[in-house]
Parts: sequence; C-alpha cells; structure tokens
Amino acid sequence: MSEQTNDLNAQSGLDLHVPAGNPAVEPPELTVVIPVYNEEAGLQTLFDRLYPALDALHATYEVIFINDGSRDRSPLILSDQYRKRPDVTRVVLFNGNYGQHMAIMAGFSQARGQSVITLDADLQNPPEEIGNLLAKLREGYDYVGTIRQNRQDTWFRRHASRAMNNLREKITHITMTDQGCMLRGYSRQVVQMLNQCEEGRTFIPALAYTFANRPIEIEVTHEERFAGESKYSLYSLIRLNFDLVTGFSTMPLQAFSLLGVVLAIGSTALFFLLLLRRFVFGAEVEGVFTLFALVFALIGVLLFGVGLLGEYIGRIYEQVRGRPRFVIQAILEQDHRG
Ligand code: UDP
Ligand code: MG
Repeated sequence: MSEQTNDLNAQSGLDLHVPAGNPAVEPPELTVVIPVYNEEAGLQTLFDRLYPALDALHATYEVIFINDGSRDRSPLILSDQYRKRPDVTRVVLFNGNYGQHMAIMAGFSQARGQSVITLDADLQNPPEEIGNLLAKLREGYDYVGTIRQNRQDTWFRRHASRAMNNLREKITHITMTDQGCMLRGYSRQVVQMLNQCEEGRTFIPALAYTFANRPIEIEVTHEERFAGESKYSLYSLIRLNFDLVTGFSTMPLQAFSLLGVVLAIGSTALFFLLLLRRFVFGAEVEGVFTLFALVFALIGVLLFGVGLLGEYIGRIYEQVRGRPRFVIQAILEQDHRG
C-alpha cells in the first residue's frame, strides 16, 4: 500500500503528505461522513460515483456511513460495501432513528481524518465536488460552506428555506448564504469542538460555523434526489427549524417579552380612552364583536408564547435527563491499531 501511494506521488510530482507505512495506522487526510436512512434504492449508485471520485483525489481517505435505523435493506447494502472496500469503509449502525444531525455527530466522533466532509446519501450533493472542498481545506480554511447552484428541490422547499434562512440570519448572527446544503467541509479542529458539544438536538452547519476561524463559501452543483423520497416531512422540517432557532439564540423569548410590554402599554392606553368616553358619551355597549376579535387575537399570541417557552423547556428537559444521544449497535471497521 505504501508503495502504491509513493507511486502516486511520483506520478503527480507533488508532495502530497501521504503518510508512509500502514495507512490503517496513520490517520487519513480525509474522512467523508454520510448519514443513511432508508436509501436502499440509491446506495449502489452512490458507491459507483463516490469511490472513483475519492480515488481520483490522491489523498488517503476513509468513508463513514451511519445507518440511522433504516427499516429497508440499507444496512445490508452498507455491510456488503464494507466487505468490498474494508480498507477505506467504516459503517456505524444505530439501533434506531436518531435523525440526520445525530448520525453526522456519531460520524464525527468516529472520524480520524485531518479534514472531514459531510454529504447526503441521496446524491443531491455530487461526490465529484468533494475535491473542490478538499482543495479549500488544504488552503487552510477551516470551514467550507456551500451554496447550491440551481437548487433541485420543490418550489415550496426553496421558498420556505429562503425565508427561514433570512429569519435565522437576523436572529442568530450566523452568516450563511445557504444553510441547508449538507455538502460541507470541516477541519479537524472544528470537528474536535463539535465532538465536545453534548446537545441532543442541533444543526451542524450552524454549530460548526460558531467554531470556525476562517470560513469560506463555495458554489456547488445540486442534483435531484437520485431515488426514493425526501426523509423530511413538513412536520420534521418545522421541528428542524425550531432546533435551528432555539439552539442558537434566545432572541425569540426576548422578542416575546418586548411584545408583552407593547401590548400592556397599548391596553392601558385603551383603558384610559374608554374611561374618558364613558364620561363624555355615557355607557356604550357597541363593538362587542371587535372585542371578541381582539381577545381571540391576544389569546393566539399568548398560546404562541407559551408554546415557544415550551420549545425551550422541552429542550432543557431532554438535556438534563442526560440520556445518551444515540445508541451505536455495532461498528464495522478494520482494526486500526495495526
Ligand atoms: N437522513 C438520516 N436520518 C433521518 C433523515 C434523513 O440519516 O432521519 C439522511 C438521509 O438518508 C440523507 C440525508 O439525511 O442522506 C438527507 O435527507 P433527505 O435527502 O431526505 O433530506 P432533503 O434533501 O430532503 O433535505
Ligand atoms: Mg436530499
């Protein structure tokens, strides 16, 4: 194996810093982390494009697949692939579905590479772009964000996520042009910081951004989902956006306090106005339905506020219970101690 890498060095005429000796002992340059949830239809095509793209990079690499409790044949297909390329493939098997971001977290905790790149399993992020991200990481950027060119999602998804992107930017002061694209690169330092975080619900691109010293964004192509359907329902997208907002800011709570102050001042003013009218015009009973409308609107605002409080409290509750964030059933990998 070391002969082979030296060969590559000679061919490209570059000093690639490929570690000599047994690559299973030396950490690889690149780790690719891919969460997989019910992706049986597209996995083989993913392998067919991913491995050649990585082999062409002239870098030592490993691929970590995390099976996020798939109920289809995905784990079988993954373990077959592990048997085919055990030197560069590792498979983490969860015992249940813990969500894309927890799967990536598990991948990070296992990653040994100097640079770590995350990717979706559905081929919406072309594996051929990995080289461009790696080039930026080699230049010394520690966070490579991406902007999807002609995003291939539904009209609703594109517009909803643009609106959420703008809102999130105002609330959290995290500047990302396109928060949703999971094809991203992180340096070892950033991944180490992420590994120290113990939050049970998170949004990795935003969390990593808060640790980055030298972030950069590049444009990448985006493709339609190769097979299967999006694993995010409208409900889970809403939940994810709550995670994003509550996980990075308490501004919504403060906004609510402010709204409460404004409403209190307004209603006090209204009270005095009504008192004045009582003396000028005498008793008035018209406008009962306006009153109803006002009261219902206020109840709506109030319920939203209670719900928002609940979002934070629920997360605090989950966190203080301190249960494991995910359960790894098994890891398929070679012995890395040599
Ligand atoms: N995914 C996961 N666990 C989940 C949902 C999704 O690991 O609970 C994975 C999925 O297999 C894919 C990636 O996360 O690799 C992105 O999912 P999807 O393509 O469904 O999201 P979308 O592109 O619609 O945002
Ligand atoms: Mg997708």
